[in-house]
Amino acid sequence: MSIFDRLLTPLAVGQTVLPNRMVMGAMHTRLETLDRPHARLAAFYAARAAGEIGLILSGGFSPNAEGVMEAGGPLFDRAEQLDEHRAVTRAVHAAGGKIVLQILHAGRYAKVPECVAPSAIKARINAWTPRALSLDDIGRTIADFAHTAALAVEAGYDGVEIMGSEGYLINEFAAAATNHRDDAYGGSFDARIRFALDVVRAVRERLGAAPMLIYRISSIDLVDGGLSGAEVATFAQRVEAAGADLINTGVGWHESAVPTIAASVPRAAWREAIRNVKRAVSIPVMASNRINMPEVAEELIASGVADCVSMARPLLADPEFAKKTRLGLADEINTCIGCNQACLDRIFTERTATCLVNPRAGREIEFPEGRARVAKRVAVVGGGPAGMAFAVNAAERGHAVTLYEAAPRLGGQLNMAKVVPGKAEFNETLRYFTARLAKLGVDVRLGEAVSAAALADAGYDEIVLATGVTPRVPDIAGVDHPKVVSYVDVLTGKVDVGARVAIIGAGGMGFDVAEYLLGDARESLDPEAFFRAWGVDVANANAGSGGLTKEMGATNPAKPRRTVHLLQRKAEPPGKGLGKSTGWILKARLRRAHLMTISGATYDAIDDQGLHYRVDGVAQTLAVDHVVLCAGQNANRVLFDELAARGIHAKLIGGADVAAELDALRAIDQATRLAVEL
Ligand code: NAP
Ligand code: SF4
Repeated sequence: MSIFDRLLTPLAVGQTVLPNRMVMGAMHTRLETLDRPHARLAAFYAARAAGEIGLILSGGFSPNAEGVMEAGGPLFDRAEQLDEHRAVTRAVHAAGGKIVLQILHAGRYAKVPECVAPSAIKARINAWTPRALSLDDIGRTIADFAHTAALAVEAGYDGVEIMGSEGYLINEFAAAATNHRDDAYGGSFDARIRFALDVVRAVRERLGAAPMLIYRISSIDLVDGGLSGAEVATFAQRVEAAGADLINTGVGWHESAVPTIAASVPRAAWREAIRNVKRAVSIPVMASNRINMPEVAEELIASGVADCVSMARPLLADPEFAKKTRLGLADEINTCIGCNQACLDRIFTERTATCLVNPRAGREIEFPEGRARVAKRVAVVGGGPAGMAFAVNAAERGHAVTLYEAAPRLGGQLNMAKVVPGKAEFNETLRYFTARLAKLGVDVRLGEAVSAAALADAGYDEIVLATGVTPRVPDIAGVDHPKVVSYVDVLTGKVDVGARVAIIGAGGMGFDVAEYLLGDARESLDPEAFFRAWGVDVANANAGSGGLTKEMGATNPAKPRRTVHLLQRKAEPPGKGLGKSTGWILKARLRRAHLMTISGATYDAIDDQGLHYRVDGVAQTLAVDHVVLCAGQNANRVLFDELAARGIHAKLIGGADVAAELDALRAIDQATRLAVEL
């Protein structure tokens, strides 16, 4: 018996039996469009199928040209496209998996001038105003869904998922906010959900009984004018009656002002919205959003919230999530930390998705598995993300690795990141690397500041330096004043930070320190605190509210814990470099916590009075107890230079290589590539 018994129990979905309750959720990777034919996409999904995931849902494909996400976006409407899909379905089936095609009509979110919607109401996140569909257009669109479903089965998919959530076309019909029609498809609740039900019926009819038909319902819209909980429940019952085999759940619309999947959202926070759907129907229900651990997934099934779980990003992070769960190796699952840095932030900036903690994701062909031809003795110096990633990957390839870390614990910069409210998931990255290093027999030497002489004497075949960075000390008069501290002092708890603070430097670290000093960690750990902070009524009791309350920020004290000023020299608004999909969340949290920002600053001096600076030539003073330096970093290459003086060429990775771009994404990617080359 496994502690994940329920997760590992087969599940009947219509006439299909899934081997377990773990499903890879639909997610665009841009491999669908940026890399044709689908060789990389096929390898990507095949790796997940080989990792024993019970079912894969593809990224969404539009059933017609006006429903694409953007110009050139995924579209499946012609027989000529069958072969490239067959490459994917064959690869998945050959690896023992099952895959369903998601059909997604983007509606008014389609970033094309010809976009359509139930009514001609522009979305705030799209530059184009949609054209309202005529009754004829509606009939044609329903037929297009059915046509794409038929193509999907012809291409070898095991069924389809109809995307009815996240604010796309079907969701727009259902919500009064976006459906102002007065014909058979608008007005009353029954009329607004008619389009969804017509689509389900038409698709079922074309599919026949055997292929799976999954419908993704919006369990809570999180927009004003969205459905109530009672309406969602009724909607789910009608979807079941219309012929769905399984209901998947979505949370929020893309335009919602509430985060739904970022790391700052507590795990499984949306359980009550999902349970509402589960209670209403007799077919299986799938939970989604911020489920990143088998423990969380098992508990959702055990407590009757859902019958199975959808995980998209966690399957980027670890293709073997399901297999490791079955084998009792949950400790070795490379956990998705909800950062969005290498997946959504790359997709939003027109690059293919990969994963911060698993750079192989989406690049399976570039990173062949397997052992090195010659096993080497390798020394790695530095136990931060770069050093740990290199050590694990090199050991997996059969090299004998010794990892030296001067500090008494592994983690490097991760130890600082994980204490910032909303970033506790970094603990899982540390847990993963620690478990893998132990499993692979890497000789980890903690508290050992290895010297160049010792490395030279040991006669390693390769020496890799991941010695990280040292914080930059800017050239400001009085920078050695006792009230000046570095971000390291703050985040490692070395200083007891006062009530009035100035932060110099508004990069990622400056924002992290501001969040550390002002933020409330409970908001990311406790769903109730999260809902209060973001104004969510998860019971969604009020008609037309979409689950939003009018009150936001109730957990934030009217008087902040501290007075914090965040300064930068650039004249632009601070925070431009933060992640596209998460920066707005951090900025909103800090606004609520009364952070004050100052741009275009010239620093004059720091003394007993505080920080003296000028903006537009006007001299000002911030009377503060502490000035925290977050002014970037310099590469730490002392050991590299000492080895070079002995004629030994070591390889540099991570911040020790390029301090200016210090971040875990680049560090882990570079480390993994080097290990594969070795
Ligand atoms: P950073 O991004 O380079 O930012 C350093 C800040 O200090 C800049 O805002 C810069 O702005 C200022 N600065 C630079 N030199 C200065 C000087 N001589 N005097 C005064 N101010 C100076 O460095 P970081 O914030 O330490 O972040 C390092 C890396 O870690 C980044 O690549 C980032 O991706 C990653 N990181 C990201 C996050 C996140 O996304 N949440 C969090 C932590 C770290 P001005 O020149 O305008 O003053
Ligand atoms: Fe998860 Fe971050 Fe990887 Fe995306 S990049 S899959 S959010 S760990």
